[in-house]
Amino acid sequence: MSKLLVAIDGPAGSGKSSVAQAVAERLGLANLNTGATYRAVALVALREGLDLDDGAALATVGGDVDLAADGVFHGGEHIPEDALRTPEVAAAASRVSTHPELREVLVERQRAAARKAQAAGGAVVEGRDVGTVVLPEAELKVFLSASPEERARRRALQTGREEEFERIRKAMHTRDKRDSEREASPLRPAPGAVVLDTTTLDLERVVARVVELARERQGIL
Ligand code: C5P
Repeated sequence: MSKLLVAIDGPAGSGKSSVAQAVAERLGLANLNTGATYRAVALVALREGLDLDDGAALATVGGDVDLAADGVFHGGEHIPEDALRTPEVAAAASRVSTHPELREVLVERQRAAARKAQAAGGAVVEGRDVGTVVLPEAELKVFLSASPEERARRRALQTGREEEFERIRKAMHTRDKRDSEREASPLRPAPGAVVLDTTTLDLERVVARVVELARERQGIL
Protein backbone atom coordinates (compact mmCIF):
# COMPACT_ATOMS: atom_id res chain seq x y z
CA MET A 1 0.00 0.00 0.00
CA SER A 2 1.29 3.47 -0.78
CA LYS A 3 1.31 6.23 1.81
CA LEU A 4 -2.31 7.19 1.80
CA LEU A 5 -3.95 9.90 3.91
CA VAL A 6 -7.67 9.46 4.56
CA ALA A 7 -9.61 12.29 6.28
CA ILE A 8 -12.84 11.31 8.04
CA ASP A 9 -14.99 14.12 9.43
CA GLY A 10 -18.48 14.33 10.85
CA PRO A 11 -20.52 15.16 13.95
CA ALA A 12 -20.61 13.15 17.20
CA GLY A 13 -22.40 9.83 16.76
CA SER A 14 -21.94 9.75 12.97
CA GLY A 15 -19.81 6.64 13.39
CA LYS A 16 -16.52 8.44 12.72
CA SER A 17 -14.39 6.75 15.36
CA SER A 18 -15.63 3.22 14.71
CA VAL A 19 -15.30 3.67 10.95
CA ALA A 20 -11.83 5.29 11.18
CA GLN A 21 -10.56 2.52 13.44
CA ALA A 22 -11.88 -0.31 11.26
CA VAL A 23 -10.69 1.29 8.00
CA ALA A 24 -7.21 1.90 9.45
CA GLU A 25 -7.02 -1.70 10.62
CA ARG A 26 -8.15 -3.12 7.30
CA LEU A 27 -5.76 -0.98 5.26
CA GLY A 28 -2.86 -1.31 7.71
CA LEU A 29 -2.76 2.44 8.38
CA ALA A 30 -2.29 4.42 11.61
CA ASN A 31 -5.43 5.94 13.14
CA LEU A 32 -5.19 9.50 14.48
CA ASN A 33 -8.06 11.02 16.43
CA THR A 34 -7.82 14.82 16.36
CA GLY A 35 -10.75 15.22 18.77
CA ALA A 36 -8.51 13.75 21.48
CA THR A 37 -6.27 16.84 21.30
CA TYR A 38 -9.23 19.16 22.08
CA ARG A 39 -10.35 16.80 24.82
CA ALA A 40 -6.81 16.75 26.27
CA VAL A 41 -6.70 20.55 26.46
CA ALA A 42 -10.19 20.59 28.01
CA LEU A 43 -9.20 18.00 30.62
CA VAL A 44 -6.04 19.87 31.63
CA ALA A 45 -7.97 23.17 31.73
CA LEU A 46 -10.65 21.64 34.00
CA ARG A 47 -8.04 20.05 36.27
CA GLU A 48 -6.02 23.25 36.55
CA GLY A 49 -9.07 25.49 36.92
CA LEU A 50 -8.24 27.53 33.81
CA ASP A 51 -10.79 29.88 32.31
CA LEU A 52 -12.34 28.05 29.32
CA ASP A 53 -12.67 31.42 27.58
CA ASP A 54 -8.99 32.33 27.91
CA GLY A 55 -7.78 31.44 24.41
CA ALA A 56 -4.14 32.38 25.09
CA ALA A 57 -3.88 30.18 28.21
CA LEU A 58 -5.55 27.30 26.35
CA ALA A 59 -3.15 27.71 23.42
CA THR A 60 -0.22 27.37 25.85
CA VAL A 61 -1.66 24.07 27.09
CA GLY A 62 -2.14 23.00 23.45
CA GLY A 63 1.56 23.53 22.80
CA ASP A 64 2.32 20.71 25.23
CA VAL A 65 -0.09 18.25 23.58
CA ASP A 66 1.11 15.51 21.23
CA LEU A 67 -0.93 13.16 19.11
CA ALA A 68 0.04 9.67 17.96
CA ALA A 69 -1.63 6.45 16.86
CA ASP A 70 -1.44 5.17 20.43
CA GLY A 71 -3.23 8.17 21.90
CA VAL A 72 -2.76 11.70 23.13
CA PHE A 73 -0.06 13.06 25.44
CA HIS A 74 0.34 16.13 27.63
CA GLY A 75 3.88 17.10 28.59
CA GLY A 76 4.98 13.68 27.34
CA GLU A 77 2.50 11.82 29.56
CA HIS A 78 -0.10 9.56 28.02
CA ILE A 79 -3.67 10.55 28.95
CA PRO A 80 -5.87 7.51 29.61
CA GLU A 81 -8.81 7.19 27.25
CA ASP A 82 -11.40 6.98 30.06
CA ALA A 83 -10.32 10.38 31.43
CA LEU A 84 -11.02 11.92 28.00
CA ARG A 85 -14.40 10.27 27.45
CA THR A 86 -16.53 11.93 30.16
CA PRO A 87 -19.54 14.17 29.34
CA GLU A 88 -17.82 17.06 31.20
CA VAL A 89 -14.70 16.79 29.05
CA ALA A 90 -16.80 16.47 25.86
CA ALA A 91 -18.72 19.66 26.69
CA ALA A 92 -15.53 21.54 27.67
CA ALA A 93 -13.75 20.32 24.49
CA SER A 94 -16.52 21.79 22.37
CA ARG A 95 -16.13 25.12 24.22
CA VAL A 96 -12.34 25.34 24.04
CA SER A 97 -12.39 24.36 20.35
CA THR A 98 -14.06 27.68 19.44
CA HIS A 99 -10.79 29.60 20.14
CA PRO A 100 -8.83 30.30 16.95
CA GLU A 101 -5.53 30.67 18.92
CA LEU A 102 -5.91 27.17 20.29
CA ARG A 103 -7.02 25.70 16.96
CA GLU A 104 -3.95 27.11 15.26
CA VAL A 105 -1.63 25.41 17.75
CA LEU A 106 -3.48 22.08 17.72
CA VAL A 107 -3.79 21.95 13.93
CA GLU A 108 0.01 22.21 13.75
CA ARG A 109 0.38 19.34 16.26
CA GLN A 110 -2.14 17.28 14.24
CA ARG A 111 -0.31 17.96 10.97
CA ALA A 112 2.98 16.94 12.55
CA ALA A 113 1.38 13.67 13.74
CA ALA A 114 -0.10 13.04 10.28
CA ARG A 115 3.23 13.69 8.50
CA LYS A 116 4.97 11.27 10.81
CA ALA A 117 2.30 8.60 10.36
CA GLN A 118 2.28 9.14 6.61
CA ALA A 119 6.04 8.66 6.41
CA ALA A 120 5.59 5.42 8.35
CA GLY A 121 2.98 4.08 5.91
CA GLY A 122 -0.14 6.26 5.87
CA ALA A 123 -2.97 7.26 8.18
CA VAL A 124 -6.68 7.61 8.71
CA VAL A 125 -7.22 10.95 10.46
CA GLU A 126 -10.61 11.71 12.00
CA GLY A 127 -12.18 14.88 13.34
CA ARG A 128 -14.32 17.87 12.37
CA ASP A 129 -12.03 19.90 10.10
CA VAL A 130 -9.48 17.37 8.86
CA GLY A 131 -10.57 17.58 5.22
CA THR A 132 -11.21 21.35 5.29
CA VAL A 133 -8.24 22.63 7.33
CA VAL A 134 -5.81 20.06 8.74
CA LEU A 135 -5.13 17.96 5.64
CA PRO A 136 -6.88 19.45 2.61
CA GLU A 137 -4.35 17.52 0.52
CA ALA A 138 -5.63 14.12 1.79
CA GLU A 139 -6.20 11.72 -1.12
CA LEU A 140 -9.58 10.68 0.26
CA LYS A 141 -11.94 12.87 2.27
CA VAL A 142 -15.08 11.39 3.75
CA PHE A 143 -17.83 13.25 5.60
CA LEU A 144 -20.14 11.03 7.65
CA SER A 145 -23.57 12.19 8.71
CA ALA A 146 -26.64 10.64 10.35
CA SER A 147 -29.93 11.97 11.71
CA PRO A 148 -29.70 13.62 15.16
CA GLU A 149 -31.98 10.93 16.71
CA GLU A 150 -29.88 8.10 15.32
CA ARG A 151 -26.65 9.71 16.51
CA ALA A 152 -28.03 10.20 20.03
CA ARG A 153 -29.33 6.62 20.05
CA ARG A 154 -25.89 5.27 19.09
CA ARG A 155 -24.13 7.36 21.72
CA ALA A 156 -26.61 6.25 24.42
CA LEU A 157 -26.04 2.58 23.46
CA GLN A 158 -22.28 3.06 23.35
CA THR A 159 -22.14 4.59 26.82
CA GLY A 160 -24.62 2.10 28.28
CA ARG A 161 -26.82 4.96 29.51
CA GLU A 162 -29.89 4.29 27.43
CA GLU A 163 -32.17 5.87 30.02
CA GLU A 164 -30.29 9.11 29.42
CA PHE A 165 -31.19 9.29 25.74
CA GLU A 166 -32.94 12.64 26.11
CA ARG A 167 -30.07 14.25 28.03
CA ILE A 168 -27.55 12.88 25.51
CA ARG A 169 -29.65 14.14 22.60
CA LYS A 170 -29.76 17.66 24.09
CA ALA A 171 -26.03 17.75 24.93
CA MET A 172 -25.25 16.55 21.42
CA HIS A 173 -27.50 19.17 19.89
CA THR A 174 -25.70 21.94 21.83
CA ARG A 175 -22.31 20.57 20.76
CA ASP A 176 -23.36 20.19 17.08
CA LYS A 177 -24.72 23.72 17.00
CA ARG A 178 -21.53 25.17 18.48
CA ASP A 179 -19.31 23.06 16.19
CA SER A 180 -21.15 24.01 13.02
CA GLU A 181 -21.79 27.68 13.82
CA ARG A 182 -18.39 28.66 15.19
CA GLU A 183 -16.39 31.10 13.09
CA ALA A 184 -13.11 29.21 13.26
CA SER A 185 -13.23 26.09 11.06
CA PRO A 186 -16.92 25.21 11.38
CA LEU A 187 -17.95 21.59 10.87
CA ARG A 188 -18.81 21.09 7.19
CA PRO A 189 -17.87 18.77 4.32
CA ALA A 190 -14.63 19.69 2.53
CA PRO A 191 -14.70 20.44 -1.18
CA GLY A 192 -14.36 17.09 -2.92
CA ALA A 193 -15.43 15.11 0.15
CA VAL A 194 -17.56 12.00 -0.29
CA VAL A 195 -20.63 12.53 1.94
CA LEU A 196 -22.10 9.33 3.39
CA ASP A 197 -25.37 9.37 5.32
CA THR A 198 -25.05 6.46 7.73
CA THR A 199 -28.52 6.72 9.33
CA THR A 200 -29.71 3.43 7.88
CA LEU A 201 -26.35 1.80 7.16
CA ASP A 202 -24.65 -0.59 9.52
CA LEU A 203 -20.99 -0.16 10.41
CA GLU A 204 -19.78 -2.91 8.08
CA ARG A 205 -21.43 -1.31 5.03
CA VAL A 206 -19.84 2.07 5.76
CA VAL A 207 -16.40 0.56 6.41
CA ALA A 208 -16.57 -1.50 3.22
CA ARG A 209 -17.50 1.60 1.20
CA VAL A 210 -14.66 3.72 2.63
CA VAL A 211 -12.14 0.89 2.07
CA GLU A 212 -13.35 0.58 -1.51
CA LEU A 213 -12.98 4.35 -2.06
CA ALA A 214 -9.48 4.28 -0.52
CA ARG A 215 -8.42 1.45 -2.83
CA GLU A 216 -9.80 3.34 -5.83
CA ARG A 217 -7.81 6.43 -4.83
CA GLN A 218 -4.70 4.36 -4.39
CA GLY A 219 -5.08 3.13 -7.93
CA ILE A 220 -4.62 6.69 -9.12
CA LEU A 221 -1.86 7.79 -6.70
O1 C5P B 1 -14.56 13.90 18.14
P1 C5P B 1 -14.69 14.26 19.60
O2 C5P B 1 -16.08 14.13 20.13
O3 C5P B 1 -13.69 13.57 20.45
O4 C5P B 1 -14.31 15.82 19.65
C1 C5P B 1 -14.52 16.59 20.82
C2 C5P B 1 -14.74 18.05 20.44
O5 C5P B 1 -13.52 18.58 19.88
C3 C5P B 1 -15.79 18.29 19.35
O6 C5P B 1 -17.09 18.51 19.89
C4 C5P B 1 -15.29 19.53 18.65
O7 C5P B 1 -15.77 20.69 19.29
C5 C5P B 1 -13.80 19.50 18.84
N1 C5P B 1 -13.08 19.09 17.63
C6 C5P B 1 -12.78 20.07 16.71
N2 C5P B 1 -12.04 19.77 15.61
C7 C5P B 1 -11.61 18.52 15.40
C8 C5P B 1 -11.94 17.48 16.32
C9 C5P B 1 -12.70 17.80 17.42
O8 C5P B 1 -13.17 21.22 16.89
N3 C5P B 1 -10.87 18.26 14.31
